[in-house]
Amino acid sequence: MSFLLTCPHCGPRDVNEFKFQGEVNRRPASPPTLRELGEYLHFRDNVAGPQREWWYHRAGCGLWFVAERDTRTNEVARTDVPPTLRPAPRPPDGPSAA
Ligand SMILES: [Zn+2]
Repeated sequence: MSFLLTCPHCGPRDVNEFKFQGEVNRRPASPPTLRELGEYLHFRDNVAGPQREWWYHRAGCGLWFVAERDTRTNEVARTDVPPTLRPAPRPPDGPSAA
């Protein structure tokens, strides 16, 4: 099975260039109970429908990003890099010497 997945950096590519890294799940409160920690580490929702997932562009730029994919049809609604993974903004350029 093959479909196109859009890397936010490289654009549309064959899904075989990527590695699926699991559904996006929420970290438990800190410090978690043993039950919360066990659920976070071992249980997944495994939805039939739209799901937010981690992907890694292993045969390309090496970017980690989140895709919203319908698990029934493999249609990808969108991909994006979460704000916490985006590079820090560059400081504005100083006055030019010219
Ligand atoms: Zn890429």
